[in-house]
Formats: sequence, C-alpha cells, structure tokens
Amino acid sequence: MALSEEIKSFLQEEALQRFLRYVKVHTTSDETTGTHPSTERQFDLARVLEKELQELGLQNIELDEHCYLYATLPPSDGVNATPIGLLAHMDTSPAVSGENVKPFFRENYDGTPLKFPDDPELEVNLNDAPQLKDCIGDTIITASGKTLLGADDKAGIAEIMAALAAFGKYKELKHGELRICFTPDEEIGMGTDKITLEKIPEYCYTLDGGEPGELEAECFDAWGAEIKFKGISVHPGFAKNKMINAASVAARFLALLQDYETPEHTEEREGFFHLTNMSGTEEEAQAKLIIRDFDVRVNETRMEHLRKMKELFEYRYPGLKINLDFKHQYENMWVVMEKHPNSIELAEKALTLAGLEADKKPIRGGTDGARLSLMNHPTPNIFAGGLLFHSRKEWIAKSSLRKAAEVVVHLAALWAEA
Ligand SMILES: [Zn+2]
Repeated sequence: MALSEEIKSFLQEEALQRFLRYVKVHTTSDETTGTHPSTERQFDLARVLEKELQELGLQNIELDEHCYLYATLPPSDGVNATPIGLLAHMDTSPAVSGENVKPFFRENYDGTPLKFPDDPELEVNLNDAPQLKDCIGDTIITASGKTLLGADDKAGIAEIMAALAAFGKYKELKHGELRICFTPDEEIGMGTDKITLEKIPEYCYTLDGGEPGELEAECFDAWGAEIKFKGISVHPGFAKNKMINAASVAARFLALLQDYETPEHTEEREGFFHLTNMSGTEEEAQAKLIIRDFDVRVNETRMEHLRKMKELFEYRYPGLKINLDFKHQYENMWVVMEKHPNSIELAEKALTLAGLEADKKPIRGGTDGARLSLMNHPTPNIFAGGLLFHSRKEWIAKSSLRKAAEVVVHLAALWAEA
C-alpha cells in the first residue's frame, strides 16, 4: 500500500521531533565500568522512552534493572500474524563526547561543505561524505562541532517511535503484534549480554546506522590466533649455531603474511589477517592476530597457511617450537539468516515500497543483530540514516528519518499479510 502524503509528513515530523529530544540526553556507554548498564545515565533516556511508549498506548512496558526497555503493540483489528521485534540501541559511542549535544540545522542544503558553529576548523566535504550530493534541498542535521550527534542510534529509536505513533493515529495501517526492545551498551559490544530472549519474538530487525537503503544480513566469520615462539637463548658472543632468537624469528614469520591481506588493504567482501599485538625476547615471543572473512572456508585456509608456516619454520630452525592456538570469536550470522530468506525478502520489499533500492551489504564486524541471529533470532539490520557516526562529523538528512520510519510501516504491513 502506498502511504498518503499526510501519513508521510506525520512520520517526518514525529521522527524529527523525537530525534531532537533523544539526542539531547547524554547516554554515552563506557567499556571500563564492568556494570550492566555500563553507565547509569542510559536510564535517563530509557525513562523518557518508557513514558512516551505509555502515551502511545503500548502494553507490557517494562524497563528492567539492566536498562532494557520492552513494550508490545497488539496487532491491529483482524490481523493474526507472526509477531516481529524492532530493536535499536540507546547508548552512543564512547569514542567522542555525547554530552550536551546541540543539534544544528542546515535547511535547503546547497551542496557546499558542512561547517560547524562551535568549531570553525571542522568540515565535512564530499570526500568525507559523497552522499551529500544527493541531499541538495534536504535539511542536514549535525551536532555543533564539539560532540557526536547520536543519530547512531537515536535515529533508529525515533523512527520506530514515529511508526508506532502512526499506527495509533491511522487505523488503516495494518500490522501484526510488534515487540519493541531498546537496548543499552551496543557500542561497547554488550548490547545483548543481559537481553531476555523470551521477551523478543523469533523474527527481529535492528534499525541502526547506515545510509538509506542499506540492509545487512551477513557479518564476518571471526577467529583469534595466538602464536607462541619458543627459542634458545645463548650469550651473543658464543651464539653461533646455537641461538634461536624467538623475537627475530617471530618478526620473520609475521613478515611473510601478505600485505594485501590486512585491514588497511581490504574492503567489501575481502578478508584479512590483522596483527593486533606482538612482543618478545630471545627466549620467547608471542603474537596475536585476528582473522576475518565472510566465508568460513577461506578462514580455514588462512589457519592452514599458518600451520604450514609453523612446520616450515620449525624445519628451518631446528630446536624452535611454535605453538598455534585458534579461537572462534563469532560466526557469520548468514549461517542462520540463509535459513530464513523470508525475513530478508520482506525487508527488501519494504525498502522498495518506501521508494528505496535495497543495498545489501556485508557487515565488516559483528553486531547485536548478528549475535541475536546466532541465538536463533534472525535479525537483519535496516538503515537508520546516520553517517560518519562515532565522530564530530556525524550527520543525517531529515528525509532519512522519514524514509526509515516508512520502511518500518511497510515492513509491519508486509508481515501482517504474510
Ligand atoms: Zn549503532
């Protein structure tokens, strides 16, 4: 069903006004505290949202001790459909201050670099953000130059809330049961640590990050490798044919990993070896690597390559001992997603109905949706519209807020018909 202009402008205003309220609440997470939530201030936004969900008439609203906020919107009249979950995270990245965010507007954007009132040195140009050229005439929102904006992921929350407001006002919009879950601590990789899986339905979507059209259902298959080199230390004056210098052997070993297979030389679907730590003496040396690819079989060949190098080096340096230890860190969510093509197809259709072209991208990392998928809650990610996040250059176009809210409305309708 096409949405009327009235509904579209309602979604636009709702998403924008809510977004502006939420970004002003300081919700930076902190990976050093070890608590859940990592920072008490995330409750400040959770309580605002709890009240707004009550005003919108949602049921079973629950804000738990770990700052997870759950709520249910019962199905619209006559609909009996599979429930879906809509998730977004309340925290912002600790990489940049999220305190005292002052949203700054550029109406009728003219295509010139973005300048910031509180930092004249700061600029966003077309190199940073090629998407700006598609935003001429739109309204661009950033922070004032001192903080991040927090569109990651308060845009996602605002878009879900705008869609809920529309379901309350326009009864012709059909939907099945919708279960909402706003989470803390996503930015520090703990967004699903204390989630109550029984409270979310089997099929969920996150609205998080990314430009309009983005749909993500794949992430890295991730391994950690620890390599220990045991050498033989001898006084350097008498070392001929006796010493095996573990630190120097380790350096030679690591230098044989191809430069073109590192994070700084790869993109899109390319995987890599990444040296994250090394140290050593003549006696002992160690190196830590992370290994990433979208295809688990390619990662297996990378690990096999390291095993072969171990054999080769032990042959080359008699007496040297190399110990390899691999740990699977997380799996590509695609192993679960591929069994649920319907969930991705409906999201693609919803994007099309909102006038967007679905841009299916693999995530070069892990996400909460990936973790949930691997816990058998298939959870693709739909764009929320923010760009250059985790930085003072973070920006969002006003129309992106509306488009993502439209996608939620269409997605709910498609599941109601499915
Ligand atoms: Zn995010």
